[in-house]
Amino acid sequence: MTSDAAKIRLLMELRSQGIADTKVLEAIERVPRERFVAEPFRAQAYDNIALPIAQGQTISQPYVVAFMTEALRLGPRMKVLEIGTGSGYQTAVLARLARRVYTIERYRSLLCGAEARFAELRLTNIVTRLGDGARGWPEVAPFERILVTAAAERLPLPLVEQLNLDGILVVPVGPSGEQEVLRVTRRAAGIDTERLLPVRFVPLVAGVADEA
Ligand code: SAH
Repeated sequence: MTSDAAKIRLLMELRSQGIADTKVLEAIERVPRERFVAEPFRAQAYDNIALPIAQGQTISQPYVVAFMTEALRLGPRMKVLEIGTGSGYQTAVLARLARRVYTIERYRSLLCGAEARFAELRLTNIVTRLGDGARGWPEVAPFERILVTAAAERLPLPLVEQLNLDGILVVPVGPSGEQEVLRVTRRAAGIDTERLLPVRFVPLVAGVADEA
């Protein structure tokens, strides 16, 4: 199958799985996932599955990327924070839907790979940082939207604190085997929490990774 045919099949599958936001589907259509997966997995780039990337991490399943992106309810003027750059695939999808995306990764090697892809694809509205994303990015906070693409043991409060009023945080929470995606909305009186989808993510790990 050609990659165009595989991509069309994937988009139809995402629609049949309930992804209805045409802007999200369009962003998935326009980001070349084959550039974000490792060479041996190119032929599977448009299969609806997670694939391994370097450092024992994974590029998420397209359905989960589409679902979490839709759950964020993005607008074109928004400033977004993403935790867990990984391959940069999810970042690239967000960058097509928001004004600016700030993304944090704890592996320098993954971050460098992602930065090279952003440059190749001329995605100029992405700002990257090596660091522990669980602390957020206080110097540029507040954010209208925050997306975490690694599973937290419990709700990361620094991230909730870096949301605007009515801002939305989408985050997988829970121990391995029992994670679910939560959507947390910051309100004047506190936070609203919705449980959206059971998932399996690699864990959110504290501190910058030692790659020596
Ligand atoms: N969104 C990525 C998915 C990567 S998997 C993609 O589309 O490819 C999750 C990523 O989160 C991994 O790269 C992992 O190194 C990173 N990560 C885990 N804990 C982190 C933390 N505390 N701060 C920043 N990145 C973290």
